[in-house]
Parts: sequence; structure tokens; C-alpha cells
Amino acid sequence: MERSLHSIKGFLFDLDGCIYMGETPVFQAIETLECLYRRRIPFGFISNNSSSHPDEIRKKLCDMGLSLDCKNTMNFPVILAGDCAGKFILARYGKSRVFVVGNEALNRAVIREGHESVSLSEEDCSLVLVGRDTQFSWERFERAVNYIQKGAGLCICNPDASHPGPDGLLIPETGALSAAILQVVPVTYTCVGKPEPFLFQTALRMLSLGPDQTAIVGDNLSTDIIGGRNAGLYTVHVSSGPESLQTNRHVSGQVIPDLHIETMEELKELIVKNIPGGTHE
Ligand SMILES: [Mg+2]
Repeated sequence: MERSLHSIKGFLFDLDGCIYMGETPVFQAIETLECLYRRRIPFGFISNNSSSHPDEIRKKLCDMGLSLDCKNTMNFPVILAGDCAGKFILARYGKSRVFVVGNEALNRAVIREGHESVSLSEEDCSLVLVGRDTQFSWERFERAVNYIQKGAGLCICNPDASHPGPDGLLIPETGALSAAILQVVPVTYTCVGKPEPFLFQTALRMLSLGPDQTAIVGDNLSTDIIGGRNAGLYTVHVSSGPESLQTNRHVSGQVIPDLHIETMEELKELIVKNIPGGTHE
């Protein structure tokens, strides 16, 4: 069945390359979000980020000029792969002894859900969790592969090799670290973030919307668009980010989003034209 923007009641946005690039907002991205808010169309964010807390992202968006109540977490949910990792592990594996290859925010997200965080000195664990570990070391690498060799499971926050930084800079990501681990111990693994459905389902519950009522807007075909399509959402691909040229090259032509736009300004105009909304006074 042909789908259109007319039936959409809420939006989920990817962050890196869609809303901002490093510390710089994408052209007209903040204005598009404010347009949705004025029209009382609910929206949230869904990102494979594994090293930040949602409050840091809300503050960053407010610092970029988003004039919403950034302290009200229900105002716009921020669903991050790292922040959801503890919940994902609980659902898939139950309470676990986890060796975290990641930053402190990821470690806290694991402990918060009642899991035990295993230190380097311990003999074994039940699961190795990999995020964007900016302190990644040979020691952690060696421990991770040997825990897996001894029977621990492997869970990764996202499959991305990199994400776009400022001035075309490539920021190495979780997928690059997990690739190193998998080169040593080629096991099957689970993934918290996009393109898997867990973050989409979490976000839809928070927005109280069904997948058929919701659009995902993102710049990455292999995570945002394939993941969104598999979860049943209306998919909008925006080519504002550098990922359109790099990460997307190997999948373009095979993945067709429901809608393709060049800029966020184009999306804003389409929203005004196609989606009825109330007005915030
Ligand atoms: Mg992106």
C-alpha cells in the first residue's frame, strides 16, 4: 500500500547528521522541530549514541536554540542506544554480569537496571557489552575477547563504523571496536540500536503512537531507513549529512525510503502543507 505523510501523527529524528553535525545544528533542523511543537505534533529522538546521557542531548539541543522546556523529559523523549542498553540486556538476557567496553555513561546505564558491572580483574562474566569506548585499550580488548572465548555473550550498542563530526571529521564508532573483537572471536551477537527494533519500539511507547502513525527521519539508509522500515514506520531519508555519501554508498539503490528530501527546510514545508496540527499559544 502506498503510504503518505498525510497519515503521520508523530516524528522520530536521528541526531548526528540529521539534527546536528558535531556542535553545529543542521540547516533549518531546529526550526523544523519548533514548527512541529507549534503544531502540537509530538516528536522524539532516536540515536545509536552510546556515550551520552539523554539530559546532555536535551541541553545540547536547547543550547542550539530549541526553545522548548528542555527539563521536561516527556516534552521530547531522547532514546539513546547506550542509555537503553541495561533495559535491552534485562529483556534479552535477564540480570547479567556485564563487562562494559564503553564510557562511564554506558556503565551507569547498565548498573541502573540492576546488572553487575564486572571489572578487568575478574575471572569471568556473562556478557560483554560494547559501546563507543573513547578509553579503549589493549587490556580491555584482550579481556573482552577472552571473556567471550570462555562463553560470555556479546552485545553491541550499534553497528556503525563512524559518525559524522564537525568539518567532515570521522568519529570512530562502536561498530569499529566490535569488528576488532569479532575478528578475534567470530560469534553471533545482539544489537541494542538501529537498525534493530528495540529503540524504535521504546520510542513509540513513549510517544503513545503506533508505527503506522509515525515517521523516522534520518540520514543513514542502513540504520535509520532499513530499521524504520522493518519496525513498520514511514521512512524519510534526508541527505543533509555526509553519511549520504559515505555510509550509504553500499546500500543506495537497494533501499528506497518512503520519502527522500534534500534539506530539513523541505521537510518543514511538507509538514505545514500535509499534516494538520493544533497550535500552541
Ligand atoms: Mg545519522
